[in-house]
Amino acid sequence: MPEPRTVATHCPYCALQCGTRLTRERAGVVVTPTDFPVNQGGLCQKGWTAPSLLDTPERLTHPLVRRDGTLTPSDWDTALNTIASALHRIRDQHGPDAVGVFGGGGLTNEKAYLLGKFARLALGTSQIDYNGRFCMSSAAAAGNAAFGLDRGLPFPVTDLADAEVVLLAGANPAETMPPLMQHLTGPDLIVIDPRRTPTAETAALHLQPAPGTDLALALGLLHIAVVDGWIDHDYIRDRTHGFDHAWQQAMSWWPERVERTTGVPVGDQRAAVRMLAHATRAYLLTGRGTEQHSNGTDTTAGFINLALALGLPGRHGRGYGCLTGQGNGQGGREHGQKADQLPGYRMITDPDARRHIAELWGVAPDTLPGPGRSAYELLDSLGTDHGPRALLVFGSNPAVSAPNAGHITSRLAGLDLLVVADFVPSETARMADIVLPVTQWAEEDGTMTNLEGRLLRRRRLQNPPGHARSDLDILHALARRLGQPGHRYPTSPRDVFDELRRASAGGRSDYSGITYERLDAGEALHWPCPHTDHPGTPRLFLDGFAHPDQRARFAPVEHHDSTDHPGAEFPLLATTGRVLAQYQSGAQTRRIPELTSAAGETFVEIHPDTAERAGLTDGAQAVVTSEHGEVVAQVRLVPSMRTDTVFLPFHFPDEGRANLLTNPALDPTSRMPEFKVAAARIAPAEREVPA
Ligand code: SF4
Repeated sequence: MPEPRTVATHCPYCALQCGTRLTRERAGVVVTPTDFPVNQGGLCQKGWTAPSLLDTPERLTHPLVRRDGTLTPSDWDTALNTIASALHRIRDQHGPDAVGVFGGGGLTNEKAYLLGKFARLALGTSQIDYNGRFCMSSAAAAGNAAFGLDRGLPFPVTDLADAEVVLLAGANPAETMPPLMQHLTGPDLIVIDPRRTPTAETAALHLQPAPGTDLALALGLLHIAVVDGWIDHDYIRDRTHGFDHAWQQAMSWWPERVERTTGVPVGDQRAAVRMLAHATRAYLLTGRGTEQHSNGTDTTAGFINLALALGLPGRHGRGYGCLTGQGNGQGGREHGQKADQLPGYRMITDPDARRHIAELWGVAPDTLPGPGRSAYELLDSLGTDHGPRALLVFGSNPAVSAPNAGHITSRLAGLDLLVVADFVPSETARMADIVLPVTQWAEEDGTMTNLEGRLLRRRRLQNPPGHARSDLDILHALARRLGQPGHRYPTSPRDVFDELRRASAGGRSDYSGITYERLDAGEALHWPCPHTDHPGTPRLFLDGFAHPDQRARFAPVEHHDSTDHPGAEFPLLATTGRVLAQYQSGAQTRRIPELTSAAGETFVEIHPDTAERAGLTDGAQAVVTSEHGEVVAQVRLVPSMRTDTVFLPFHFPDEGRANLLTNPALDPTSRMPEFKVAAARIAPAEREVPA
């Protein structure tokens, strides 16, 4: 295909989806930030260096097939025929659920949609889920319950700039999405985070709870709001249900009890509520810190309760939102790659939803499989008597990003067939029987949905190297080999999107009025957008919430201790998170020299007193051990750390994988694992050598 010299597109990484222009120069591809509203001419270090990914020396350019234990270059027919015949054999022997599919929150909307369709129709399996289960599922569950709809930010990012106060609970945008901070220079920030992060450094008030106690803090803040007379009675009466039950749960969370449980001083609790309540224009935003717990849905709901009590959601100049993480974290959870969903954010158990999608796909509703296992449960079942024998992975690296990663790696190794579609040899790809090289961001067209629910066009600048193919081509080719009619699996992103629009029509996330033509004409379109002359919906809930009676719901949530308790054997709390220079599992960003020189290996942040007690000094190698595994990491002494907590970033591979430590206990509603709390101990590496 002819290659344009320059295109307007978006950064390949996080959900802010900063606007960029890519230009092919003699020396290579050059990126420049555009004046797109979310980034307004800014980019972070990851965005500036993203073109290096296009010609990384480790780029996959040929299919690889494992022969005699070694991944060996092959051709497409051989690779696809080998996969298809193995899938036929496994399905014949063990049934359709013996094949699993694992997707990703970075896939375009078109890929996510076609992957779900491929799984349900071509494979006939219920066993599909994706890595977004590890990111946003608790906020999604809490948002759906409270508002009847889950869209990360129900307002544009630019609204934040006019706020007087913004409370950030468990979010660190100064590192995860730095250009967002331009919108947060005006408001006074209240930051809730166990670490004094770069975001917390900019805050007017930093509350530093012990990991795993966020819900106790949320209940305590609601308690203060009620007792000190800050709640919005008219809003609660006119726009909500369930306040009394929520208050009954918060009633016993006196500030002093909250201080004892969380470590946050009473004065700081009161100051936070007072700041939020005094402001005419105030926002409350949550992030992974509130979500990644075995009670993450309730924890997020606890903060939504506070926002509702103060009358924030669904009003001009005020609001509640959740900061989405992965590039297409929003769209990725709407189009059917989740175990319990069909496109349009429809539930797979809903008979009307099944009828709508089955009719569009030209099949009988009862041929669609039911709900499958959630991400961790799917990975944990691999290769067992009751789980899939084969797994197809698209756009994910669970060997690094899944909790209890040592166990999950052994599950992956026990499969009869592991196929990974990726453009770099991730840790999961290196384990595969067959690796399929795919296009990446600047080599493909498609759409992404950013953290505001705004649809964005990803545009192709250049053709992929070697024999790399788009994921859509691969799904089409595999489906045909599995006996499906080719027309069911379009290879053109525009054709897939047009089908996705019809699939979403009437669903919670209705894209039916959004077209490539409207996006290419520069229209700012946020879903829902139910017809082609609809302007989209940048601000949700102003006239009412999405429940039938238009009222939001308080949730009667109660705090429980984390399933992982510190004790004599594991006296510390290990928590995990992100750093500025790396993205997710690091499969992409660890190949960029500027980023690896900024953050190239794992480390553990620890308070100097805790380190001294453990016999550790700054720069020493330490072994951090939990019930689930152990990690070798370089010690960083950080005086602002809590003395009971250590922190590790999760981007790094091998023996530095922070997820070797993490706890796979799952939230009962969202099935989100407990990434943020693991009871742990730390010792010098020379004294405690890892297994
Ligand atoms: Fe923007 Fe996120 Fe890309 Fe950084 S990683 S440039 S914040 S989209």
